[in-house]
Amino acid sequence: MEREPAALLSVLTDGNAVLNDHADDAGLCAVCGSAWPCDATRLAGAFR
Ligand SMILES: [Zn+2]
Repeated sequence: MEREPAALLSVLTDGNAVLNDHADDAGLCAVCGSAWPCDATRLAGAFR
């Protein structure tokens, strides 16, 4: 899933901000709307 290349790039540079934005909202990512943890969250966690 690569709908937001810019967002994925920001994951590499500021993982904490991504984790703050891509919050768990009743099981869905507050930003992506996909099942949480979303791809961005998992990437940010991997690089933090
Ligand atoms: Zn997300």
